[in-house]
Amino acid sequence: MRFLSTRGQTPALGFSDAVATGLAPDGGLFLPESMPDFSRDLARFEKLTYAELCFEFLRVFATDIPPETLRGLIAQSYTKFSDPAIAPLKPLAKNLYVLELFHGPTLAFKDFALQLLGNLYAHQCQVRKETINVLGATSGDTGAAAIHGLIGRPGTAIFILYPDGRVSPLQERQMACTGAANVFALAVDGTFDDAQTALKEVFGDQDFRKRHRLSAVNSINLARVLAQCVYYLYAWLKLPASERSNVEFVVPTGNFGNVLAGWMLQKMGVPIRGFRVATNQNDILYRLFQTGEYRVGEVHPSLAPSMDIQVASNFERFIYFAVGRDPARVREVMATFKATGAYTFEHFNRDAFSASRTSDAEIASIIQRVYRTHGYVADPHTACGFKDLNPDRVNVVLSTASPAKFPDTIKAAIGLEPTHPSLEALKAKPIVKDLLKATPDAIRAYIDARAVR
Ligand SMILES: *Cc1c(COP(=O)(O)O)cnc(C)c1O
Repeated sequence: MRFLSTRGQTPALGFSDAVATGLAPDGGLFLPESMPDFSRDLARFEKLTYAELCFEFLRVFATDIPPETLRGLIAQSYTKFSDPAIAPLKPLAKNLYVLELFHGPTLAFKDFALQLLGNLYAHQCQVRKETINVLGATSGDTGAAAIHGLIGRPGTAIFILYPDGRVSPLQERQMACTGAANVFALAVDGTFDDAQTALKEVFGDQDFRKRHRLSAVNSINLARVLAQCVYYLYAWLKLPASERSNVEFVVPTGNFGNVLAGWMLQKMGVPIRGFRVATNQNDILYRLFQTGEYRVGEVHPSLAPSMDIQVASNFERFIYFAVGRDPARVREVMATFKATGAYTFEHFNRDAFSASRTSDAEIASIIQRVYRTHGYVADPHTACGFKDLNPDRVNVVLSTASPAKFPDTIKAAIGLEPTHPSLEALKAKPIVKDLLKATPDAIRAYIDARAVR
């Protein structure tokens, strides 16, 4: 299988190259050259474990990795999940389920993709007899999940920048208490945007980038989207057969990576009825699905911080389909959006999507209501999914993080403080971080001194 850029000005690449490249050189995002059709495989998939299902799915895309190697990489990627089902589907009421995606090492759904991506990187190092230095900026969950995908992997080092004092204490501990020699947690003096801006310049320095074989951690990597398709498929197969074709997945959304994966699976022949894009008060996607206008707003920090985004970086993949797979039109939309901060689609087809928006006050009251009605503790991101459930559908709400990651919000809502053994264990470990100026020179000097060679 080969992969094309949404902007049409990059030669098609195989799976491993597309994964290693991340963002296509023309600024676009990689998509499969053609969508496979899994409709005739569904019966055969029913009895598979999570890792086996993941293998059967990904082997169709990762055709440049020998099947037995791929099987091993996938099996290893899901060994650090604490629930034997990996992604347990729990019934809460008639026509209401929750799909728990927080049983990985950092207790958020990003582990599903980043455990696998870590293994793919490490495998590539081995095959090509090269080292890799992974670099990224984070406002929380992504950095922790990326670090836990690469902890202690030979041939790799990972450098994660985060704004000092502006990530939650537990998130900082997940990054800075690993004790691993190849992990560098870097608290920068400045905001997330300052860190991001400095990083862009470092990545723009082609000599430096080549010298250290730098790779970026971000939410647009092809492997992340494909790995995330699998839990939708797994959940669909776990539903009673009579409910499957009426299912609506409800997805707490920020960068549109998670919900896009489900939608792509639908395009691959899995009969899913719909998707709800559940945003917090940062509602660019909600407004788009209401009006057809995609217009950036200001980011307002919320109780669901991992969804506090201005521009949904994966949305370009949906645009590609929305404009009839015409890369010239994608370039036009993206150029207009970049220049003016807005784009209005003339005949916007929202396809299988609906959308909702949840304010902070509503998040708190929903956590209360869900706890009272179902005895279920939802984290603040997941809470956004419980708004406006569609009574005509079988709702599957994706639970994207463990409530134990947000003890203060939960305690304020229901009076109980959720805990998790892995977070408790972190509190006893020393924090190892370096303080860094948010400048390209400071970042380069730091990496020059510590990169794996
Ligand atoms: C990243 C994240 C989201 C948003 O996912 P996207 O793929 O960016 O839409 C939602 N909830 C949690 C807990 C997250 O970490």
